[in-house]
Amino acid sequence: MDAEDLTKFGELLQAAHERRALEVSELYDACGLLAKLTRAAAALAGHMRAETLALPGRYILRDDTGDDPGARLAEVGQRMEWATDLLQKAEVHGRRSHAAMGHIGVEVNPRAPKECIVCSEPTTGGSDYCSDRCRIADATGEQPPDW
Ligand SMILES: [Zn+2]
Repeated sequence: MDAEDLTKFGELLQAAHERRALEVSELYDACGLLAKLTRAAAALAGHMRAETLALPGRYILRDDTGDDPGARLAEVGQRMEWATDLLQKAEVHGRRSHAAMGHIGVEVNPRAPKECIVCSEPTTGGSDYCSDRCRIADATGEQPPDW
């Protein structure tokens, strides 16, 4: 994970927040970024577990409730172990989704709404024209008088 990845991640979070449609290439990038992010988060959780469990060797610890700080740290260590495991599983799904999205191509849907090549109004049925008036105008090179 580098600064560019974090910037892109922020942009994707914003897109998700806005429920913005994502292009296939953006989905491909997002899957790869999710894999990177979860891999980095798993490494961080593993390090946090090790550091948590090492604290009693470095400090005299106390728990502000009067409970055993060792038991509290053991709980954190266990939770970080579970978090590491879950993040590693999420990384596999992100990586496999990234590989799968890499096989998806895009073609123009001939039934998708298009714009009239004469007046830019929406067309239907894959036509290049919104109306006979525009079809005739394009064929004759003339413009109807009310344009
Ligand atoms: Zn038209």
